[in-house]
Amino acid sequence: MDLGLLDRVAIVSASSEGLGRAAALDLAREGARLALCARTDKTLQTAAQEIRQQTGADVFARTCDVSDPDQIDGFVAKVAEHYDERIDILVNNAGGPPPGTIAEVGLREWRIAFDRTFASVVRFCQQVVPYMQRRKWGRIITITSSSTRQPIDGLATSNAMRPAIVGFAKTLSRELAPHNILVNNVAPGMFRTARHEELLESMATSQNRSPEEILQERVAQVPLGRMGDPDEHAHMITFLASERASYITGQTIAVDGGLVRGL
Ligand code: NAD
Repeated sequence: MDLGLLDRVAIVSASSEGLGRAAALDLAREGARLALCARTDKTLQTAAQEIRQQTGADVFARTCDVSDPDQIDGFVAKVAEHYDERIDILVNNAGGPPPGTIAEVGLREWRIAFDRTFASVVRFCQQVVPYMQRRKWGRIITITSSSTRQPIDGLATSNAMRPAIVGFAKTLSRELAPHNILVNNVAPGMFRTARHEELLESMATSQNRSPEEILQERVAQVPLGRMGDPDEHAHMITFLASERASYITGQTIAVDGGLVRGL
């Protein structure tokens, strides 16, 4: 199947590791030109170089903390300059919000969660939409979580901020549909990444159990009986970014091995 992604310009934020990096690599394999960002230049440039070597893609990479709207503005401006005022695809990603129950999470953590998980998505969208409108084509895909459908115990900030993104994306999808800009979310279940290891450690500490025990218990909830590979998540993003997804907008699509029980 020709996905029609050759030469499309795709921003993938927070993409030096994990699901963001896997999405960037998959888009590059289909011929897209990339703009990557993360906070730490060394890991970011390593990821960019590896993707160039594996795919031959054009990869622009600059540091940007997505919690800071000024840094997002500066990053998008540099991407536009690098790619001749062209931005076709935005994949929104960020590190996860701080873990904890409602009793454990203070106002500071709520503010971090708002800035990192919600406001970053709003700002990136505001910045890229004018470029997409000019070409009457665009794809905006946000990496969220299974918490958009089913709250996860011990992740209060995620359970509140991720559904907010669903409401935002649905609204935006309606506003941008006349411009042929499609807005969707992907909702990952459990994937082997640094974020997942961090969550296991945090749950193990608060429950006074071993990370291995918690991992086995979590995997037992997945009908497919295993964690996902980041590549499996990336393929959904690539499809939603492609020409082949031309009649899908305003959706939140789970990639979770059947984890969420809701219909
Ligand atoms: P990860 O920790 O492996 O990677 C996160 C990436 O984001 C890294 O490249 C990191 O450098 C970058 N990053 C973090 N904070 C940033 C910031 N403020 N500005 C710029 N870059 C930043 O995480 P992951 O597992 O790939 O998860 C990605 C997203 O998906 C997170 O929001 C996470 O909560 C969510 N998620 C992950 C899973 C999973 O199973 N891995 C499940 C549900 C939801």
